[in-house]
Amino acid sequence: AVITNVSGDGSPAVTVAYTVLAPTARLPMVDEKDAQAVALGYVEDATKADTARFKNYVAGTDCSNCALYQGKAGDSVGPCPLFAGKSVAAKGWCTSWVKKA
Ligand code: SF4
Repeated sequence: AVITNVSGDGSPAVTVAYTVLAPTARLPMVDEKDAQAVALGYVEDATKADTARFKNYVAGTDCSNCALYQGKAGDSVGPCPLFAGKSVAAKGWCTSWVKKA
């Protein structure tokens, strides 16, 4: 998109092209301390998962290889339907992890 200076103060028009960020890029990150995150044991770093509490953790699993993860391959963050309106870290993990088919 393009925005043009219309200040009307006599200064030359300045045209700035900018890129509209994809909606996912604007989603705030889930805070590990959010109630839902605590309930699901979400961590931004899968290797820090609370394995004493969540026995289903399997090394090597993270959001990027979870069936629920909505981020694109290679993205560092992406949406997860369990955290509406927020992004999770590709390297994150929670106890609802499901193997991608
Ligand atoms: Fe990550 Fe999957 Fe848990 Fe969502 S459900 S936070 S993508 S592990």
